[in-house]
Amino acid sequence: MSAVPQRGALVDRFGRVHRDLRISLTDRCSLRCTYCMPAEGVPWLAKDNLLTTDELERVARVAASLGIVEVRLTGGEPLLRRDVVDVVRRMSRIEGIDGPLEVSMTTNGLRLGELAPDLAAAGLARVNISIDTLRRDRFAELTRRDRLDDVLEGIDAAQAAGFAPLKLNAVPMRGVNEDELVDLVRFAVDRGAEMRFIEQMPLDAGHIWSRVEMIRGEEILDALRGAFRLTPIGERGAAPAERFLVDDGPATVGVIASVTAPFCGACDRVRLTADGQLRNYLFAREEDDLLPLLRGDATDDDLAELMRRCIVGKRAGHGIDDEGFLQPDRPMSAIGG
Ligand code: SAM
Ligand code: SF4
Repeated sequence: MSAVPQRGALVDRFGRVHRDLRISLTDRCSLRCTYCMPAEGVPWLAKDNLLTTDELERVARVAASLGIVEVRLTGGEPLLRRDVVDVVRRMSRIEGIDGPLEVSMTTNGLRLGELAPDLAAAGLARVNISIDTLRRDRFAELTRRDRLDDVLEGIDAAQAAGFAPLKLNAVPMRGVNEDELVDLVRFAVDRGAEMRFIEQMPLDAGHIWSRVEMIRGEEILDALRGAFRLTPIGERGAAPAERFLVDDGPATVGVIASVTAPFCGACDRVRLTADGQLRNYLFAREEDDLLPLLRGDATDDDLAELMRRCIVGKRAGHGIDDEGFLQPDRPMSAIGG
């Protein structure tokens, strides 16, 4: 067991400095994407265990004092949280080591039509919106809700609110949307957004993921190369996406090959679930529970120590390719993607 540093930044045993905190605001969702949730949803987290906004703000403040510079709000669907605008406002006022925290969000976009201007005014800097298909019937099948028009309205609202760069996320799936990759890139390019394709990961509550069936990053690139000239954009640092200029730019596209080309060596992320569990990586099977500390008489130093302990225990990589790989007990919607 490595000693836990008593002070300083969130650095793990491999020298990775953690700057990015992903906070799940709720495990609930307005969609039921097949790769994420079963039709009937999942057993929801107990309401009493969900972090209050004061508790979220406190965790973010302590994290900022330890070198976290970006907070990404996610879920479940973060826009289902009633006071989401207030959460954004409070987070974006927290001073980090380089100035105020940068607050971004990953959302299914359904409520952006209504909320985008308020979120922008509250300090939200950037949004990633998930859109796996542009076809209404497919969308209804894939998400089990007929809400494509709301997502499209959300994307327009995000553009109008000035979130930049605007990123659109899709998970390519065989026999589902694999024939739409080029259309999705064109759709994004037309809106000045970056399309990002994410390899499907074994994080679905229904356990439908299959290594054989999943569409690999290389396949995604091959499909795109049939329609566009792709030029790699050099260094990606800690960013998960390998990015390319589309037809010499300025449009870009990204591929996140978490399964076949993991980027764990540069990972600077730590996650906080809606019920106060710190997870040092997406596939973690163990969590550090902040809830008793937040609701007991723990000091900020106690919280900081637990955060450091969590980071020190981080593994080198996710090991999806290891023989003994076990899917985490929590589905993606309850971890915070
Ligand atoms: N509800 C929001 C949304 O869909 O953008 C935020 C939470 S969702 C868990 C965050 C991202 O994770 C989405 O882009 C979604 O497509 C992605 N995701 C969910 N399950 C996944 C899986 N099994 N493999 C890869 N990506 C997944
Ligand atoms: Fe909801 Fe996002 Fe999961 Fe789809 S991917 S079910 S929108 S949490």
